[in-house]
Amino acid sequence: MATFRLEIVTAERMVFSEDVSAVIAWGVEGQLGILPHHAPLMTMLQSGDLMIRKDKEEEYLAISGGFLEVRPDKVIILADACERADEIDIARAEEAKKRAQETMKAAPLGVDAAAAEAALRRSLARLKAAEKRRRRPHPLV
Ligand code: ATP
Repeated sequence: MATFRLEIVTAERMVFSEDVSAVIAWGVEGQLGILPHHAPLMTMLQSGDLMIRKDKEEEYLAISGGFLEVRPDKVIILADACERADEIDIARAEEAKKRAQETMKAAPLGVDAAAAEAALRRSLARLKAAEKRRRRPHPLV
């Protein structure tokens, strides 16, 4: 099966560096699928869950915004924050979601509303990635 190198990097660490056969991320205009030999591309990513396919396995991660670049030799994602599904603290993400929703409800047009909306998106991305992992705990056969 054709593969390409995928690197996912944050300011803090290299989160992922492996050969994969597909990645599906949330670009600013919607979901974006990258397969081997994709044309060069640079796009912004919004916060969301990210799916990676390796052979018959699927892996999920949460991305908190960033950039995706398709280069001839590899695909690089520079993320503001990124966690593999098994690193996600679900209780913390639930708390963050609750906090963001309360802020948005208390002052929907207030100065904190945009930040709360961004925090809500991050928490939902984490919850979604963790949930997808739970639903598919074993490699596909
Ligand atoms: P919180 O309010 O819980 O801190 P946040 O969305 O503000 O959430 P970020 O600023 O995006 O957090 O991330 C700060 C650091 O904490 C990053 O290294 C990120 O990977 C990590 N992180 C945030 N939330 C979680 C989580 N639920 N599980 C694991 N790591 C997390």
